Order: sequence, then structure tokens, then C-alpha cells
Amino acid sequence: MLNVVFFTVNPFEENTYLITNEQDQCWIVDPGMYSPQETAQMISYITENGLTPQAIINTHAHIDHILGVQALTDKYKLPFGIHKHELPVLERAADTAAMFGFELKNVPKATFYINENEQLKLGTDALDVFYTPGHSPGSISFYYPEGNWVISGDVLFSGSIGRTDLPGGNFDTLIQSIRSRLLVLPDETTVLSGHGPVTSIGEEKKHNPFLK
Ligand SMILES: [Zn+2]
Repeated sequence: MLNVVFFTVNPFEENTYLITNEQDQCWIVDPGMYSPQETAQMISYITENGLTPQAIINTHAHIDHILGVQALTDKYKLPFGIHKHELPVLERAADTAAMFGFELKNVPKATFYINENEQLKLGTDALDVFYTPGHSPGSISFYYPEGNWVISGDVLFSGSIGRTDLPGGNFDTLIQSIRSRLLVLPDETTVLSGHGPVTSIGEEKKHNPFLK
């Protein structure tokens, strides 16, 4: 079984997820740690729990989701995976960071691509990958059916959806992604978003004003 915990970090209050298996291997999803304290907290958690990080996997490459990638790849020599349609977003990251007043010394390089409908294996456990563009061109979601949860990045939030005014964003594409890939999941599926509180597919179907 996979387990997931989260850390809310950086001025955008981004949720960084840490997924672990029973062999104490882990993935880090969307590491957004910016301050040295946030990075130290993540590394302490990994050390204290005896975890061995295997990879960084990102739902997308907006700066608030990648600010902590370099520190972790420096420390653990981790591969860093995104969907290949997200490359232009990653390549613009230094400019975007400057625009938002962040310092991004080294823009991390993607070392592998994560494909639609791929299964990502952590030991014997696997996450399903859904291609859910619209908020950004290469947004993906990670679904773990055995645990009834999905990490939706900035595609779907409690009571809201991702913004679509950034480069490569498209409102109709986003709604289509949510309807065709997320709302088809069981109602009891827990939605772990890139920002804000935990919700569920059933809750969003009923109450999300963007999905009426
Ligand atoms: Zn985003």
C-alpha cells in the first residue's frame, strides 16, 4: 500500500506531497519548498522516517510546484519527471520566477517524461497517470485506486478549478479534463489538490460552482 502526507509550503501555500510504500521508498510530488527551513523540514522528515527517495514526479511545472526540485536533486540525486508537454513551462520558469519575485538559481532539468495512462511503479505499488491539461499544457494527475485518492495538482480544488490565464492554459480544455478524467472516478475518491484543503470527487460533483 502507498501512503501520502503533505507539506504546505512557499508564499503560494502550495501542497507538496510525499508518497511512501511499505519498503520506505518514497516519491516527492511537486516539491515547492522555498525557504531553507522548508527544505530542512522535508529532509528531516525523510531522514527521521528512514525513507529512500526514488524520484520527483510533478503534476506540472509552475514555479510554486518546482521551487524545491533543485535542493532535493542536489541532496538525493533524484530523477525528475514531468509530462513532455510541460517542457515549455519549465523552460520559462526563470522568467516566471522573476516576474513573481522569486529567485530560482538553477531551473531544474526534466530527466524523464511521464506519459498518459502510464503506471508509475514504486516497488510493487503503482500510480495511474491521467493527462489533464487546461491549467497548464502538460498537467497530469496521479491516481491510486487501492487507496481511493488522486493528486490533482492545480486542475481541481475544493470548490474551485485551476486558473487558465497563464501561458498554455485553456478553460474549455480544463473543464473537459476534469469531466472526462476526474469526475468519472468513484465519488468517495479523495482529491489531494495543489493548493487548499482535501476534498472528494462526490463533494466537487455536488458543490463545485465551476462544474454545474
Ligand atoms: Zn499551477
